[in-house]
Amino acid sequence: MEQLSVFDVFKIGIGPSSSHTLGPWKAALRFREVLTSYDFDKVSIELFGSLSKTGKGHKTDIAVQLGLLGFNPETINSNDINDILEGIKTSKTLAFKSNVISFSPSEDILFINSIHAAHPNVLSFRATHKGSQVVKQTYCSLGGSFIKLIGELSEVNRNHVLTYPIEKGSNVLEHTRNSGLDFWEVVYKNETCLRTSTQVDNQLNDIYQTMKSSVYQGCITEGVLSGGLNVKRRARALCSKLLEAHQYKTIDAWETALRKTPLVFDTLHTWISCFALAVNEQNAAMGKIVTSPTNGAAGVIPAVLLYHQYFVKNDDFDDVKKFLLVAGEIGCLFKKGATISAAEGGCQAEIGVSSAMAAGGLTACLGGNTEQILMAAEIAMEHHLGLTCDPIKGLVQVPCIERNSMGAIKAIMASNLALNGNPADAIVNFDQVVKTMWETGLAMNSSFKETSEGGLAMNVPVSFPNC
Ligand code: SF4
Repeated sequence: MEQLSVFDVFKIGIGPSSSHTLGPWKAALRFREVLTSYDFDKVSIELFGSLSKTGKGHKTDIAVQLGLLGFNPETINSNDINDILEGIKTSKTLAFKSNVISFSPSEDILFINSIHAAHPNVLSFRATHKGSQVVKQTYCSLGGSFIKLIGELSEVNRNHVLTYPIEKGSNVLEHTRNSGLDFWEVVYKNETCLRTSTQVDNQLNDIYQTMKSSVYQGCITEGVLSGGLNVKRRARALCSKLLEAHQYKTIDAWETALRKTPLVFDTLHTWISCFALAVNEQNAAMGKIVTSPTNGAAGVIPAVLLYHQYFVKNDDFDDVKKFLLVAGEIGCLFKKGATISAAEGGCQAEIGVSSAMAAGGLTACLGGNTEQILMAAEIAMEHHLGLTCDPIKGLVQVPCIERNSMGAIKAIMASNLALNGNPADAIVNFDQVVKTMWETGLAMNSSFKETSEGGLAMNVPVSFPNC
């Protein structure tokens, strides 16, 4: 049974894509480690399939350069990225400690549109010395920044004894019925088999603080996103309208002000949308976000969680824990039973999964039992089945940014339906919808799976004077 942690699903990183930016970045970091055992004077990278077709828009070429240089996506200052890239371009070198080799991004990063037999998202690193190959590694990027070296059995090499092994939703039901624990407590017990309870709490808090910060940064930043589509940022204008044009200089002052906004449907609805847009505008601009379960869908969970924290309960860390543990486990269940990669399953695997995660997390915070939590997650996914991935020009902007608002609103509605319904009457159960999502992804034409060869990507004429 694959052992996943909620911290495999929630990871702090840089936008715009978990499969096309963070996964390749991690692979490059691993290859850099491998290179310490070799003499080499040349490194080249091949990007296959979806990584080639949408790699420019998803900044895959940038990610592999930063990874080869040893930068960590969790700690890098995103404001430094342009200078680092300019340095590579002008010096035409890459530095591996004292070994400085010649490197030209335009010549040494190859975009190969054909799909590799191993997976839709594959990249290869090759090092040579005096013209002869010394080492080559090929990775699959599996979505949600999971990577797997070809030849490895699993992307997560973990072999702990978990108190409550979980592969399907039905396992969670069994564990909670037999133990009398809540859903979140079962997940917490498992997490504490992997790390101490203090570490679990601290990591959850880091995730929460980063989510809040990405919302705040998106709400105070205006301008046009780069890439050539001229997409105007909207979160700041929405936030300003809701706060009646007052500007707040710190996140604390901003939070205090927004909590005072009237709790009417239109206002709440607008805040939720604003939170989701804010995160994904930051993501599109290579800002710091939490992958949840992917970068393209990173706005859904913060939007629903902050809706709960700001407007339903007053900043309660116990609820943050409950929310993230339940949502994270639901993400793990989709990863195990289906996919969280748009190149394999379309956007149902990104926005659909994040909406199901948020629906489950919210239901747990609102007092729902395990049956209702799974029912909420099932409803949220049921109404994303078949959602295509067709980003215009391969940029994680249109339809991606708005799609996070839609995923958040559907999550809240799914939670509401589950809390007001009787799971015993449900026709579809959680495990059935996971299976259906996977089968739908398999049947979907590849033009709708992160290749930008179908849907909006083909039907919206764009000219790119800046590119
Ligand atoms: S359309 Fe959906 S799956 Fe595709 S890049 Fe955008 S958010 Fe991700």
